[in-house]
Amino acid sequence: MMDGNISPSLLRQAGLIDGVWIEADQGATIEVIDPATGAVIGTVPDMGAAETRRAIEAAEKAFASWRRTTHAERAEKLLAWYGLMLAHETELATLLTREQGKPLAEARGEIRYGASFVRWFAEEARRIGGETIPSPTPDRRILALKEPVGVAAIITPWNFPNAMITRKVAPALAAGCTVVVKPSEFTPFSALALGVLAEEAGIPAGVINIVTGMPKDIGGELTGSEIVRKLSFTGSTRIGSLLMAQSAPTVKRLSLELGGNAPFLVFDDANLDLAVEGAIASKFRNGGQTCVCSNRILVQAGVHDAFVEKLSLRVAAMRVGSGLDEGTDIGPMINRAALEKIERHVEDALARGAKRAHAPVELPDGPQYVAPLVLTEANTDMLLASEETFGPIAPIFRFEREEEAVATANATPFGLAAYFYTRDLARTFRVGEALDFGIVGLNTGLISTEVAPFGGVKQSGLGREGAKVGIEEYLETKTFHIGGL
Ligand code: ADP
Repeated sequence: MMDGNISPSLLRQAGLIDGVWIEADQGATIEVIDPATGAVIGTVPDMGAAETRRAIEAAEKAFASWRRTTHAERAEKLLAWYGLMLAHETELATLLTREQGKPLAEARGEIRYGASFVRWFAEEARRIGGETIPSPTPDRRILALKEPVGVAAIITPWNFPNAMITRKVAPALAAGCTVVVKPSEFTPFSALALGVLAEEAGIPAGVINIVTGMPKDIGGELTGSEIVRKLSFTGSTRIGSLLMAQSAPTVKRLSLELGGNAPFLVFDDANLDLAVEGAIASKFRNGGQTCVCSNRILVQAGVHDAFVEKLSLRVAAMRVGSGLDEGTDIGPMINRAALEKIERHVEDALARGAKRAHAPVELPDGPQYVAPLVLTEANTDMLLASEETFGPIAPIFRFEREEEAVATANATPFGLAAYFYTRDLARTFRVGEALDFGIVGLNTGLISTEVAPFGGVKQSGLGREGAKVGIEEYLETKTFHIGGL
């Protein structure tokens, strides 16, 4: 087991406004809890509207000069930040595991994944172009210029405390925007550590501001502000839709990455070993606490029993424990509420006819552990069919026909990720095109990379992150008509 000690220089128990590390106005704090032990790791300021307003003003002031820096200058600062993230991988990963719970190997993976966005958008910064448009008359020229949107509010969840921040902040900064970040109150230390490294990388005061605390007042100020021109949010559909409504009076640009209810389809002609690998990767990563985690596993009758057997063997052998323990597959869940939702889903499923597919996995002592479980005989009346379980529960739904499986997969108001396994070429296109989701994985359970667009349709959100399009979310087009030539 790692000692889990957190590097003191990266454990910053203060917010960041205009380059100054500060407490809350009234000195109020909130505790950050280690989900593996229930111990308090430290505290962060419980800020409210007044501190948020000052952070917005700092971002506005910094925007005036940051937007005028050259693309190369911004790229260099981002690359310095990227380098520091990699240089501090172990410290950042340990901190992440302590406050979030995921196994250390996954936390390391997240730091590298998080850093990859910083490098990617440093590269993209240099390619923000524009357009010259052929004019309808000879005495005119038309240019479409790209300009930064302005001050951006960034609100992020606890499941990827590092990468969800870099995926938004890096394109914002590359575009020339400045930001006010509000990390999840459950995992603020990873965000603050990124602030420490950003300072060290020479990113100027006020370009990245971080406010910590309970979300309501901070969110109200960020969405209500006329200075904030853009909101990028990752979290639940309920809060995303609320923030969208709160942003309506000031007509903000919005990027929303919301909930999912990912289907995972295994057809009779699938490579079953590959499908089991994919199911493990997509279902159990981060203990099942990601918005692209398979929520419903639909398996065709011909391979159903074989798939269940192979998957159950793997799941029954998983180890639950502290993320700092070597060999842990599933860490603690983030909080009691998460645990209770998972338990409610399992009880409801069992009451409606689901069956446990294997012997129970042993749990260590600790308040927030949950055993990974494969459930068979799942049906669409169960809560886990319509709600995201966000935990290590794999319900298997049996199906006979392809059309039936696709219809079930699409029967959800969400549309983030979907996965399917087949070796048939015609089916590949038929099903891939019929799935009503923003991201589709064929014969793979891994769909997150900085180089590809990430985002959902329907109630899973608006906009795309990563890739070439990711920076567009922080750019406006100014059309410049030049006449009298
Ligand atoms: P999850 O279910 O993943 O915890 P939430 O949508 O509750 O998702 O939280 C995602 C982020 O949204 C967190 O940073 C949280 O603090 C923030 N948040 C929650 N409620 C509000 C709100 N009313 N206004 C602004 N931000 C909020």
